Amino acid sequence: MIEYRLKGPVSQERQRIRLMASLRENRFPQAILIDGPVGIGKKALAIEIAKALQCSDPNMRPCGHCFGCKMAADAGVTDNWVVPMESKEAHAKSADDVSAGSSAKTVQDFKQAYIEEIFKNPYRIDIFDAGAEISVGLVRSMISAFALKGDRVRVVIVAEADRMNDSASNAFLKTLEEVPPNTYFILTTSSREKMLQTIRSRCLALHLLPLSDDEVRSETLRMLGEDADADDVTDDIVGLSVGSPGKALYYVENGKKWCELAAAFVKKSLLADYYDLFQDLAEAGMEEAADANRFLEVLSFLLSDLMRSRSGARLRIPATTALVNIDAFPRIDHSALELALNTVQETMSRVASRRTAPPMLLQSLAIKLFEGYK
Ligand SMILES: [Zn+2]
Repeated sequence: MIEYRLKGPVSQERQRIRLMASLRENRFPQAILIDGPVGIGKKALAIEIAKALQCSDPNMRPCGHCFGCKMAADAGVTDNWVVPMESKEAHAKSADDVSAGSSAKTVQDFKQAYIEEIFKNPYRIDIFDAGAEISVGLVRSMISAFALKGDRVRVVIVAEADRMNDSASNAFLKTLEEVPPNTYFILTTSSREKMLQTIRSRCLALHLLPLSDDEVRSETLRMLGEDADADDVTDDIVGLSVGSPGKALYYVENGKKWCELAAAFVKKSLLADYYDLFQDLAEAGMEEAADANRFLEVLSFLLSDLMRSRSGARLRIPATTALVNIDAFPRIDHSALELALNTVQETMSRVASRRTAPPMLLQSLAIKLFEGYK
């Protein structure tokens, strides 16, 4: 009997055991949807499954060196992927339309560059631009590539499948209704709710779990490479990441800035030192909704920690929480903090609605934050 061994973090072993059992028993579903929070390794698992399905080793799959395994690990085999792209990239000419010797970048070149990034570090949360989407053209070119395939098993990974626009979703749904033999689709998403219900219902759902704090630390250090120092991944970074090495990598780069700004935001808002605070916000550059929301997320963590510190519970971002020195503000009790947290969450949804510019929303948040308690 063929043994299957999918590699991955211990925290996700139960999900892998389920997958390995269905591979062994030859009842692997033709379409699965891996969902879970951003940056926890959904694409990494998809690649492992693709190798296992395409592998032809008689004993142990994936073996890592047969033709099928190599194809699954080759960023140049762009037909095996559907990835979100920016409009100008998705509309670039295909390799068939560009004459030999031309230096023009083709849609396949752009796609290959994205796939290379995924292989380099599948945890990364910033590979695709906020505006990138999966257009119907990208789905159609994947479908037409089926016509060229031989008998071999083929796996298509649809990364961040929630980014399919309406016409792409409908085209993809048609493919799912009649999946060609020997073909498997692996979709990944961190926003299941944004996908067509009809697509979701045709895929086996696999909920991937976040990693433990220890695993986040070790995976993040591994991704950072040899030059990394254990001190680069602080307790606050692990705390902010909530089980996601992808987020931890982001916070290694930007966490200090967000944490210091969040502490200053709380303190200066308490002291009604708005002039200074607005200057800090202007310097941080909060025009982008994504940046503003990431900052607000850090601010929510800080407020929750301030509540925990009052009850003596374990803190998620201890160093940042200490910066505020909440004991200097005895009037700020549990209900004041709870109210503040609600106000922050309200601001997050207003940022998401995009009706008002983020800098304006943050300024009015600063004024409202501890209203009645200052
Ligand atoms: Zn193999």
